[in-house]
Amino acid sequence: MQTLVSLVSSQRTERDSAILPILHKALDGERLNFDEIVALLKSPDLLSMGMAANEIRFRIHPEPIVTYVVSRNINYTNVCVDYCSFCAFYRPPGHKEGYVLPLEVILQKVQEAVELGATQILMQGGLNPDLRLDWYCNTFAAIKERFPQIWLHCLSPAEILYIAELENMSVREVLLKLKEAGLGSIPGGGAEILSDRVRYIISRLKCSKDEWLMVMRTAHELGIRSSATMMFGHIEEPEDIAEHLISIRQLQDETGGFTAFIHWCFQPGNTPLGKRVKGHQAGGHPYLKLTAIARLALDNFPNIQASWVTQGLKVAQMALFFGANDFGDTVIEENVTRLAGAKYWATIDEMLRAIREAGFIPKKRNTLYELLE
Ligand code: SF4
Repeated sequence: MQTLVSLVSSQRTERDSAILPILHKALDGERLNFDEIVALLKSPDLLSMGMAANEIRFRIHPEPIVTYVVSRNINYTNVCVDYCSFCAFYRPPGHKEGYVLPLEVILQKVQEAVELGATQILMQGGLNPDLRLDWYCNTFAAIKERFPQIWLHCLSPAEILYIAELENMSVREVLLKLKEAGLGSIPGGGAEILSDRVRYIISRLKCSKDEWLMVMRTAHELGIRSSATMMFGHIEEPEDIAEHLISIRQLQDETGGFTAFIHWCFQPGNTPLGKRVKGHQAGGHPYLKLTAIARLALDNFPNIQASWVTQGLKVAQMALFFGANDFGDTVIEENVTRLAGAKYWATIDEMLRAIREAGFIPKKRNTLYELLE
């Protein structure tokens, strides 16, 4: 393997092959530091990084299996007071297009998802001042009462922090109440880039890096596992991405509570941030590069997900050769990235076909990445 990495890099410039010692270090099982991650991010030598990441992926998951979860996203409200500059989904309180889904509609959506074989419901929405802790607890309890087999993967750290603020309760107390009502795990949404320099520019009112990490730490301590995400491809620098990767790696050392790393490109459509970056959207090269770097840098993360919703099935297929081992959700419904311009859609059969076409065996999993077949 190392010979192949050398072969690929020998055909590149001296500058590109400067990353070879870093790749060898990762292949030798040593942890990459901040400067090394930055060096990889600044290198265009995609193929060498991909080969090293693929080798490590197969060391962690020796079987050519690609997992996926059948899930429905329910965006329960679009009313939000955080006004993130990358968001095309929210409406401010009092806006005529603001909504909160009635419980019966939510239950109907869960029913439809169950009929399609869903095991997971992912509920995320805006920070709505009208929704208090009781609303969430009653909603989760009602879903679990009617569909006890459904796993509730709900509420990002920003939503949990906001509920705690509204209720004047600690994050721990809120999480315990939600867990009692049926919450199973939490999605890593709202991480964007875990660098306060970037967060101040793109989402000034949203939780800070330390607050996001604190919610995750508390959840993990209570046995509530979560994913870790990253939305990149806007105003961040390689140093910000490295800071993000090292922050979640450190927390994973502490708690072991992250199930997976999931990254996607900023969707610029209909957003103020999109105007600022002139509608530019990161393409396949940066996406695949970050997939490989995540696999190389996050040595304590078991799973790296390919985001076909933002990248399309073709790039997601490629990501399976750059360190990804999971195809994520079937995404029966998703409004947040769609409103910002994500245009990819696939049926479960198309998704399975894409995995098989790439030479892998698709296997259905649950939210905790346990195989169901
Ligand atoms: S990304 Fe989330 S928190 Fe930010 S404005 Fe949109 S709905 Fe609100």
